[in-house]
Parts: sequence; C-alpha cells; structure tokens
Amino acid sequence: MRQLSVAQACYIGGSQMQEVGKRHFSSNVYLLMDSGECALIDAGGGQVSVSRLQRRMSADGLRLRWIILTHYHYDHVRNAQSIQNEFPAAETVCHRRDAPFIRRPSCILDGTFTNRWLGGSLHETFRQMNRCIGEYEEYRRQFIEIYQSAAVDWVICRPTPLRLGNLWLHLLPTPGHSPGSLSIWVPEHRLVFCGDLPLWCGPAQPHPFGNYRRWRESLHQIRGLQPACLAWGHSVPTEGTDRCRRLIDRVLDHARSMTQNLVRCLDRRGRTVSELAPAVADERMLQSPGQRRLIEDSVHSMLHWLKDEGKATCRTGYSAVQWFAE
Ligand SMILES: [Zn+2]
Repeated sequence: MRQLSVAQACYIGGSQMQEVGKRHFSSNVYLLMDSGECALIDAGGGQVSVSRLQRRMSADGLRLRWIILTHYHYDHVRNAQSIQNEFPAAETVCHRRDAPFIRRPSCILDGTFTNRWLGGSLHETFRQMNRCIGEYEEYRRQFIEIYQSAAVDWVICRPTPLRLGNLWLHLLPTPGHSPGSLSIWVPEHRLVFCGDLPLWCGPAQPHPFGNYRRWRESLHQIRGLQPACLAWGHSVPTEGTDRCRRLIDRVLDHARSMTQNLVRCLDRRGRTVSELAPAVADERMLQSPGQRRLIEDSVHSMLHWLKDEGKATCRTGYSAVQWFAE
C-alpha cells in the first residue's frame, strides 16, 4: 500500500489487488483513515486481499465505517460483497442512478428496465454502433460471468456529507462516465477521489450509459474544487494543484478537439461510428481492440450530444446505421 502525501490515505494499485493468473481487471482501491475509522473507496475487481485489509486495520486499530462505490463497473464493485461479508458493520454507499446495476447487475441487459431508467437499451446501442448480434451475445455472456451483485445500504442523489472520524467527506454526484458516478471530496486535505471520470478523453461509455455533456460538466466541477490530489480509478494518483488542473485541462481540450473533428467529418453521405473513429484517434490506438472500443464508445456518446445540439442525425441505411450532418 502506498501512502498519499496529502492525507491518511492509502492507494492500493489495481494490479496489486489482482490474484496472479486471474484475468479480472481491477480498479484502484483506496483506504482513507481518520481517528480510528476508515472508508474504503471502491472495492476492486480482482481477487481482493481481505486478509491484508484486516491486518492493516487490526495493526492500526481501525474500524471500517464506509464502503463507497464510485460507480457500478465491475472492476470497482466486484469485491464489494465479499468485503461486506468480512466487515458487516461497514455501510455501503453509492449514487441512486447506479444502485440497481450494483444490486442486480443483470438489469443492465433488461431493455425494458434501462429504457425506463436511462432512456435507452444496450441492444439499441449495439445496433446504432453496428455491432452484430454475435458481439452482443458475447458481451452478455462475459457480463454474466464477471459481474457480481452487492448490497447497498445508502443511496444518495445530491451532494451529501459523510462523517469519518473527525473528517467530513463530501459525496458529489459527478455523472458522465456512468449515470450515477460519484466523487468524494475531502476539503481538509484538498483531496478528491473521482473514479473513472478523467480516465480518458471522453465518457468512454456509449449513450445512454455514458453522457458527454454531463461528463464535461462533472470535470469542470472537479476542476473548480482546485484539488491538490486527484485519486482516480486507474493509474497512480495525480498530486499537486497545478498538475491536477493541467491533467483536467488536457482531458477537456482533447475531448473538445475530438468533437470538432467529428463535426468536420460528418457530411450528407453518412458515416458509421467505426468509420468516424479514425477522425478522433490515431491509427496506433485503433489497433488495440480494447482502446478501439473505448474510442468508439466515446464517439457514440459525443454523437448523441451533437444530435441534441442539432448538429448530427442518425439514420438506418440498407445495412448500417449511419450518422449525418444535420
Ligand atoms: Zn468505469
């Protein structure tokens, strides 16, 4: 565990939470401590070292008070239930919009539910991205294999303070990467835990699961806090006020140029999401299937934002769904 310089907080890198030989990907997991209490921020997706957490807590005489889940993605949540089983006194908190996907992950595959909850379905998203039925079935199969449900004790839907020892943690709704993404702001240390919000130059999730406008607003909100440490879901935390601001500015600038390039590429001939991807990312990134997926997912979110702005429209041709300039 690596100590953060700004607070009694530990950063447990994603890879350290992974069991050797297992392919499940893990987010970072953070342990924030104050006056004998601690909060776990995200639960990770690899094999969690519950015994390591227990050792740390008994060595320091700590009580696990909160398990705060920044969003529903499996690499942040998969271990939540096993940690809850070991620490039954801890209470689990998330945002209301993500809560159904944590309590019963399979409801994300239920189009009737997601149409009501988010205004769209995964099936329709795959159709708009011209991903074939085989890809949808493979996604379904992997989803059922890797997602695990967890109990949630509290849901929040507006900025909410939480007490941890003598510290106040401010839970802030920062949607965009997911409908109910949460950030945790600790003003006393100018420290913010922001999940996957600055993960990539866009929501990295397709509409309606990701939302480009909200993602941008959330990043502006985090920037306005002037954090001295940005502890995010992957990679090492960013420390230093200037470095945090520069990181957010770089991400926002890149996203803005991506949307400008999309507008330039849209015309009356019509293009698919995968034909538009090279307009916003270099060839090297597109060669990796994982990166290409993130890019196409962000492009899909951005196209829906352009549609709302009256600059793009989507039509189904003979064999493909294409996007046109409005
Ligand atoms: Zn995520």
